[in-house]
Amino acid sequence: MLATDFERTSDNMENGSVTIQLPVAEQSRLNRERADTYHRYHIDATETENRQKFPRRFNVKVGKFGLAKLLAKEFFKYFGHWDVVFSRPCTYGVFSGPVGGFAPRPDLCVGCLRCEVQHPEFVKVTHNPDLAALGDSYLTSKHISTIDEEARKGSVPVRGQGYRGRFGGPGFDQMFTDMSEIVRPSRDGIHGRELIGTSVDLGSKPMRLKFAADGGLLDAPKMMTIQVPFFYAPPPNSISTGIVPEILSEAAEIVDTLVFLPETTVTSQGLAGPNVVPIIAPGQIGNIESHGNGTRMVEMSSWNLDAWNQVKEHPLLVSIQLPFAGDWMSTLIEMVDNGVSIIHLVSDHHGEAEDGRFVMELYQEAHFALVEKGCRDEVTLIGTGGVAGADHLPKSIITGMDAVGLDHPLLISMQARLLGDTKTRGAAGVKLPSNFDKEWGVQRILNLSCSWRDQLLEILGAMGVREVRRLRGETGRAMWCGHLEAEAFGDIEGFPGGEQ
Ligand code: SF4
Repeated sequence: MLATDFERTSDNMENGSVTIQLPVAEQSRLNRERADTYHRYHIDATETENRQKFPRRFNVKVGKFGLAKLLAKEFFKYFGHWDVVFSRPCTYGVFSGPVGGFAPRPDLCVGCLRCEVQHPEFVKVTHNPDLAALGDSYLTSKHISTIDEEARKGSVPVRGQGYRGRFGGPGFDQMFTDMSEIVRPSRDGIHGRELIGTSVDLGSKPMRLKFAADGGLLDAPKMMTIQVPFFYAPPPNSISTGIVPEILSEAAEIVDTLVFLPETTVTSQGLAGPNVVPIIAPGQIGNIESHGNGTRMVEMSSWNLDAWNQVKEHPLLVSIQLPFAGDWMSTLIEMVDNGVSIIHLVSDHHGEAEDGRFVMELYQEAHFALVEKGCRDEVTLIGTGGVAGADHLPKSIITGMDAVGLDHPLLISMQARLLGDTKTRGAAGVKLPSNFDKEWGVQRILNLSCSWRDQLLEILGAMGVREVRRLRGETGRAMWCGHLEAEAFGDIEGFPGGEQ
């Protein structure tokens, strides 16, 4: 198109700007092109069946003599209606096998207890100890069965019976999110017309823009964007090489997030790429040059000023791990003062620091320390540890994280059983299903990612927040169970901390 095809519609003599109006046909062509190439971010979930049987929820024990007596009675009462006779006393089919209740099918039991209430003399329904034995005191069998369902279906689990858990408890259960927004402009964003953004930036944004004399931008931000506010943390040492890192790398690429892996794994398995973050020891930080193939970021496994000085001007982003141990706050401030732009806070798998404090408290301390220092946007805080359910993501972000690492839930989604020390980071033994392949593993991770992102969208929509970046540090949008209880019951004699 020639320059003369454009219409010069207005000149602003004060600032010298000129508005060019394109011809209508050209405008609509550009709009159409833009609309045709628009891609709404989405993770493809596909139902992916379990590779090993998941323990059932209940065991059903039936006294044969009592059942025979009932059947004899009903045989005459409902003579000819054999489906009725053999379905009793369960409408879910537990007693509807070839020989009825004499060989019950407990896999179908939903635990409604109708049978036990109606026939306490010969039916007993109990929790399956095999299911209860999964997990540990933090990542419980309930978390595991929920993750298993999310990784299988890729959807938001819906129980349809209301919430039956307790309202408040330890860890992330201390926090209630504020879903009481009456006007919720972004409610449609989950599946409808308006977009709710889940992308986050990693790196440093300047606190103000500075321009050169020619109008060009000085100090352009050094950062990258990932599409979801979570990333994949490295697998435990026992499976840090082999098929699991390959699965995580492929899933990270599809989701457009990051996976953190030991540098030796990245090199030996040829996994370097834009979505893989090699973890490098400070003594080997010179290896940063060797990671090509589009690598965008590396992580230094601990703070070391000399090593940082070697790489701080490097074009790749560099994050630095900071465990919640010792005087971690002084180290964090030292890192910030030396220009570190991405700090990766790490707790154990129960979300606890060395002194036993929980990550929600520690994340707030880190976040508000940077707010007070006036440099919060110059530093990205990411945190790993203690995330066992979809609601833990927004709760970590509300307490101040920009993005959150997933660790054990990724393994649970691949039906791994964790053995031994499941609290210390990286120490757990892992037993993967025997008939396990890469394609299946990738899809299970994608399903979990899709389900957790959808649940994040539900919370953002219900809060009226239109992008997850705005949720960071929004503690005003959350309530703490302990605070509410103290407010409501503090004056009552005998309440802990209340009047005596
Ligand atoms: S508890 Fe309910 S679902 Fe389970 S066997 Fe009894 S009646 Fe059937």
